[in-house]
Amino acid sequence: MNKKELKELKEILEGMKNELLTQAEQMRQRSLGLDVEDLPDEVDLATSETDQSLNLHLRDRERTLFKKIEDALERMENNEYGKCTLCDEEIGFKRLKARPVTDLCIRCKEEQESVEKRYAE
Ligand SMILES: [Zn+2]
Repeated sequence: MNKKELKELKEILEGMKNELLTQAEQMRQRSLGLDVEDLPDEVDLATSETDQSLNLHLRDRERTLFKKIEDALERMENNEYGKCTLCDEEIGFKRLKARPVTDLCIRCKEEQESVEKRYAE
């Protein structure tokens, strides 16, 4: 993966993260009884709570996604992004673009899913 591709993926991840934080902020405002209709689309996150406390307002599924995004960004920082965490293979730009939070190559992912299927009821 080249630098340009990496940058593109980083932008996708950051966009996803901002979207979730905006959602969290809206949930927080709603829980405070504020009128969310008045909120701008992009909330100024610098003035609000930290990412960590803010994401508590997300639903479970979104919070899990948020964690995955943070992990992916961290792997990017450490130059480990784009490598399968099980077999060390390169995951490939196309797959990452479709699923930027993934940390498994398609082979390991399929294997994992078939195991899950085998043991599921
Ligand atoms: Zn793999």
